[in-house]
Amino acid sequence: MNKKIMALLTGTLFSAQLLFALPGDIDSQLAKLPAYTGPGLEVTVTPTSTDFMLWSPQAEAVKLMLYPTDRNSAPTSTIDMRKSANGTWTVSLPGQLYGQFYTFTVKYNGKWLDPTPGVWAKALGTNGERAAIIDFANTNPKGWESDKGPKVAAITDAVIYEMHHRDFSVHPSSGIVNKGKFLALTEQGTVTPLGDKTGIDHLKELGVTHVHILPSFDYNSVDESNLPSNQYNWGYDPVNYNAPEGSYSTNPADPEARVREMKEMVKALHDAGIGVIMDVVYNHTAQNDDSNFSLTAPGYYYRHRADGSYSDASACGNETASEREQMRDFIKKSIAWWADEYHIDGFRFDLMAVLDCDTVNAIRAELDKLYPYIMMYGEGWSGGSCALESSRLCYKWNCRAFPQVGVFNDNFRDAVKGATFDVYQRGYVCGNTDLTNIIKRGLAGSVSHPDILGNDEAAWAQSPTQTINYCEAHDNWTMWDKIFISANDYSQEEKIAADKLSAALILLAQGIPFFQLGEDFLRSKPKFFEQEPTAVHEMFEDNSYNSPDYTNAIRWGEKVRNIDVFKYVRGLIELRREAALFRMGSADEIRAKLHFLPTNDLGVIEMKLEDDCDCFIVAFNPYREEKWVELPEGVFFVRYSEKGKQHEFPMNQNPVKIPPISAVVFERYGRELYECKNNIRHFENRLGLHTLI
Ligand code: CA
Repeated sequence: MNKKIMALLTGTLFSAQLLFALPGDIDSQLAKLPAYTGPGLEVTVTPTSTDFMLWSPQAEAVKLMLYPTDRNSAPTSTIDMRKSANGTWTVSLPGQLYGQFYTFTVKYNGKWLDPTPGVWAKALGTNGERAAIIDFANTNPKGWESDKGPKVAAITDAVIYEMHHRDFSVHPSSGIVNKGKFLALTEQGTVTPLGDKTGIDHLKELGVTHVHILPSFDYNSVDESNLPSNQYNWGYDPVNYNAPEGSYSTNPADPEARVREMKEMVKALHDAGIGVIMDVVYNHTAQNDDSNFSLTAPGYYYRHRADGSYSDASACGNETASEREQMRDFIKKSIAWWADEYHIDGFRFDLMAVLDCDTVNAIRAELDKLYPYIMMYGEGWSGGSCALESSRLCYKWNCRAFPQVGVFNDNFRDAVKGATFDVYQRGYVCGNTDLTNIIKRGLAGSVSHPDILGNDEAAWAQSPTQTINYCEAHDNWTMWDKIFISANDYSQEEKIAADKLSAALILLAQGIPFFQLGEDFLRSKPKFFEQEPTAVHEMFEDNSYNSPDYTNAIRWGEKVRNIDVFKYVRGLIELRREAALFRMGSADEIRAKLHFLPTNDLGVIEMKLEDDCDCFIVAFNPYREEKWVELPEGVFFVRYSEKGKQHEFPMNQNPVKIPPISAVVFERYGRELYECKNNIRHFENRLGLHTLI
C-alpha cells in the first residue's frame, strides 16, 4: 500500500474518555484486559436458538438490536446482554433468526456508543452497517463440497497475477457482462471485439497459477447504496474484515448474494486450475474512534503514542496492535475463516511490518493445520514508525524470524525498473549497469551466494521461498510507463525490448514471480489531465488508488496490439513451469546449482543452472548493442530468446551473440541428458527435432 488513503484521518486524537479512564501507559493497560479466544463470538444459530456473544471488556452495559431490513428501519427489538466470562457479553434468543439483521451498542464511561455490527460479522447489508443472520449452507455453489485449490508443493512453483475486480472487467472491450463484480471471473468464453481472449480465459491462456485479488472484504470508500455514481477505490480501508465487499456483488443489500458470488468466483477459478490469493489489510482500519474495533472495545485493538494519540505506522490514521492477545486471535481466526469457508489459497498482508512476527507465525501454524498449500506473503515494510519495537515486527530485514512467509523484493524491483521514488532513474533493463550486482542477487533468489561480491543488503532472504519477485504491482508506475518516462529517448522497439527483458528477469529469477494484470501487454495508467503536461511523468499516474476507470481499466484491445509481448511472457511462464531449475526450493540448492560466469561487459550477466539432468545458460544483455558470451563445454541450443520459443542450434558459434536489450536461454543437448530423462518422446518433443537422437 502506498499513501493511498486519507491524509484526513492522520493525527486524530484518541478519545478523551479513555485518557481519563486509563492514565499512564495506555497500551500496557489495554493489554491487561481479559481476552476471550474461544468459539461463539458474534452469532451462532443452533437448532432451537440464536446465540449472540460480544467481547467488550470495558463495557458497563451492552444491548443487542434486531432489525427486519439492512437499513432505514427501526429495531424490532432491543435486548440487554448479560455480562459473562473473559470480557464477553451474551444473550440467547429462541428460534433460528435467519433473515434478520442486528447491531450491538456498548455503554462506555456512562455513554452509549454508536451501533456496530461487531468485529466478527460474517454477513452484511448495504455498506456493512448492520450484520445479517444467514445460513451459510445456502451460499455454497454446486460442487462446493469437493472444491479445492491447486496443490502447490513449493511456493516457488507459483506464478502470481495481481488484479482489481473493476480494472479487470469494466472496460467495454472486456466483453464481460458482470462488470466490476466477483462474477466477472466466472464468465467463460469472453473476447475482445477482435476475438482475443479476455477474463478468466485470458488467465488460462497466460498460464498463471494464482490470481491475487485486491482487497475483497468489506471496505469503506465505495458507497454501496449508490453504485451508479461510478466510484473507484483499491479498497485498502477496511470496515468489516470477515465478509465480502458489497460493491463487488450484484446486490449489496442481499447478505447471501455477496457470499455466494464470491464463492462462485473461487469455484470458477479453481475449476480452471487457478488458486485465489486475498489481499488482507489487518494493519489499520478506515476509521479511528468510529471503527467497529473502537465501538466494541475502545482503544484495545490499536497502538498509541505516549500522549494517547493513535500511532500511525500505516500512514492512514492508525495502526492495529497484532501483539495483543484478542487482536492476534482475531487475525488468526479471520484468516482461517476465509481459508475454510471461502477456500482461499493464499494471503497477501498489506504493510506486514505493522504486524508482529509471533502473530504471523501463529497464522502460518493455523493454516498448516487447515491446508498446508496455502501461501503467505506480504509487504516487509510499514508506512511510518510503529509503537512497537521494530525487532518484533515483520520487516523484510527480520525475515529470519518468519521463515515460512514471503516478502516483496523491492531491491530487485528497483534494480530491474529503476528507483521507484526517482522516476527518471533508469533500471537495468534500460541500460543502468550500475545495478548489475543487485540484479544478480535477485536472480539468485536474494540469498547469499559466493559468486556475488560483497555482503550487501540485497542478500536478505533465507530461502528463495521468501522472495516475491516483481517489477510492477498496483502501487507506483507500471513497468511500461516507467520505461516510457525514464528512457524516453529509446525507440518504440527498444522500449518494448526493455519491457520483455523485465519479464525475463522476473520469470527466470529464483523466487516467486509476481505480475500485475495487463503487465503482459504493456499496461499503462494514463492520467486524465486538463492542462498540457510539462514533464513526461505527468502523463501517467503512479498512485491510482481512487483514479477513474480512464486510468485504471484494462483496455483489452491492447492485448492484440501487443500480442508479441503477451506471447513472450506466456512462453517464459511455460518454460519456468517445465524446468525445475528455474524454481529451486532452498538457498543451498541455489548455491549448488546456480553460478554466474565471467563476461566481458560489466552489465552482461551469464548465469548457469545445472543439475544431473539439465543445464541452462541464461544471458542478459541490457545494452543497446549486441554482445557476445562464451558458452561452456557441450552442445547448446537456443531454447528461448527475444523472438520467443526456439530450437535453434548455435553449435558452430562460440562465443554466441546476444541481441541488444534481450535475454537468451540456452539449453545443453547431450547423450547423458537424454539418458537422464529416460524418456525419448519427452526430449524429442521439447526439441521439436527427431533426427538427432
Ligand atoms: Ca463496503
